[in-house]
Amino acid sequence: MMNKRAFNFNAGPAALPLEVLERAQAELVDYKGTGMSIMEMSHRGAVYESVHNEAQERLLSLLGNPKGYKVLFLQGGASTQFAMIPMNFLSAGVTGSYVNTGSWAKKAISEAKIIGETHIAASGESSKFMKLPSLSEIEIAENAAYLHMTSNETIEGTQFKDFPDTGNTPLIVDMSSDILSRPLDMNKFDMIYAGAQKNLGPSGVTVVIAKEEMLTGSPKTIPSMLRYDTFLGNNSLYNTPPSFGIYLMNEVLKWIEEQGGLVQVEKANEKKAGSIYQVIDESQGFYRGCVDAEDRSRMNVTFRLADEALEKEFIKQSEKEGFIGIKGHRSVGGLRASIYNAVPYESVKALTDFMKEFQKING
Ligand SMILES: *Cc1c(COP(=O)(O)O)cnc(C)c1O
Repeated sequence: MMNKRAFNFNAGPAALPLEVLERAQAELVDYKGTGMSIMEMSHRGAVYESVHNEAQERLLSLLGNPKGYKVLFLQGGASTQFAMIPMNFLSAGVTGSYVNTGSWAKKAISEAKIIGETHIAASGESSKFMKLPSLSEIEIAENAAYLHMTSNETIEGTQFKDFPDTGNTPLIVDMSSDILSRPLDMNKFDMIYAGAQKNLGPSGVTVVIAKEEMLTGSPKTIPSMLRYDTFLGNNSLYNTPPSFGIYLMNEVLKWIEEQGGLVQVEKANEKKAGSIYQVIDESQGFYRGCVDAEDRSRMNVTFRLADEALEKEFIKQSEKEGFIGIKGHRSVGGLRASIYNAVPYESVKALTDFMKEFQKING
């Protein structure tokens, strides 16, 4: 039997597939007969470079090899992209159009405001972000350099099921918390990006996947490390990349392939999220889902109990039973189960059993 693994519902950094961790463990001190760890190798050497290139190829292949797209590996998290996007695309006379869906969208907007002009194309604020604006409500500014969306609001627990046709305006989407959780028609997107630590691997790597023309022609006034063309022109090897993180991500991508790709991963995610929402919906109000049913996230299930005292008790009991990370984000309270790709169904089943038992005793 394997070691006992926690029922890990952390929001990020989050659970990684056990198979990936075991493979990394086996290769840790001697990577493929080189006598060293991948962490100890030059990022200019052939061994590391093949891992680097493989990870890029796997990402594109899982997305159906869309024509004309490039993969960049950066650092600084998705939060640095909040700044790099306006730095690279906002110039005098154009604006960044944003769909304001909650905590992460707001951060993206406030960073863009430091750099240039912003515009709110649609907002869920009137519902306290418990409901997403419908795609038909989105009004892109006439002088928009791009439309920015957040596909999955990790803290509130909402997720877009579809994306708008933005015509000639580039669509840029923060997919930090649901990238590779479902098949995507990449042709709808001009740029997507994600911090790795939710669905792709460990923290420290940021992935940008974009049409090549988005990555050229950064304004000359931006420092090298904040320009997309620096990363494009040097295959993301301008400076030292987060090599171990990219290696682990490549292993996670292999694992996704072994699951049968994104169609199978989506099925598994549907089953996991569906089983928790079912317990919530059948609890006759004992558990209450936080967000509008049609906007529910399959990655972050947010819910509440009758009062904070009972929520506290739920968290306390769940921790005793080995559940990690069930407490909601400090900014919104309540409860949250983050069930990214790597969270096994067994963990979710254990949680739904616990939820039913907790209701029996406290309902
Ligand atoms: C976690 C998260 C971020 C921030 O990512 P960092 O890598 O910590 O900067 C941004 N957007 C979304 C949707 C997230 O879930």
